[in-house]
Amino acid sequence: MVSTPIGNLADITYRAVHILKNVGLIAAEDTRKSSILLQHYQISTPMRSYHSYNLQKETPRLIRLLKEGQSIALISDAGTPGISDPGYHLARACMEEGIRIVPIPGPAAFLTALIASGLPSHRFVFEGFLPQKKGRKTRIEQLAWEERTIVLYESPHRVLKTVGQLLEAMGDRRVVMARELTKKFEEFFHGTLSQLKNHLETKAVKGEIVLIIEGISKREKKNENK
Ligand code: SAM
Repeated sequence: MVSTPIGNLADITYRAVHILKNVGLIAAEDTRKSSILLQHYQISTPMRSYHSYNLQKETPRLIRLLKEGQSIALISDAGTPGISDPGYHLARACMEEGIRIVPIPGPAAFLTALIASGLPSHRFVFEGFLPQKKGRKTRIEQLAWEERTIVLYESPHRVLKTVGQLLEAMGDRRVVMARELTKKFEEFFHGTLSQLKNHLETKAVKGEIVLIIEGISKREKKNENK
């Protein structure tokens, strides 16, 4: 499982490049997207798609190849495979079949955002994407009681709705929106949920987004429970 950049192509380890050059096959989410990275590093290893829409069929195929002795690198569209992408399914299947998994660390959007957020990072909870429909309200209500810093992934066309719902459930808390990390238009918005909501109402945003929300304080929790 090989971590690759989340934007800036220079954010890859020597070990990752070496492995991608030397394995027999690369399983990638979107082979067209990953070919930009492979071309940049002159990697000519064959690629095959491993995506959420084909993982039922592809997981047993990859397992068979691995059992036949093939070495396979799994990469995702960006960052660390297995973090909010189908990598977990292959890791699980390998574990069940006794196939050794070698994790190659590197960038992940949630950690990159968290370390620069200025919000407490000694304890945090990574929630990935919120459910889009079923269970969304319940999840947000649960998160309202979370004491640890909360890290979410979000898409630009849903972010305003999400921020509005978080504000309603949590009250006005400190929040950081990290956008387009490591890319040309990298941007951090620091403020409160209501300020972020106003900001998003006046200016639609594009690109990839991580939201980091401060957890509920012990005092606030006590008051809410009264
Ligand atoms: N495996 C990836 C990782 O290690 O972070 C995450 C994959 S997930 C399918 C994609 C989501 O990650 C995006 O919708 C966005 O929320 C977040 N993301 C990925 N790259 C980002 C970037 N450069 N800046 C901000 N968020 C990013």
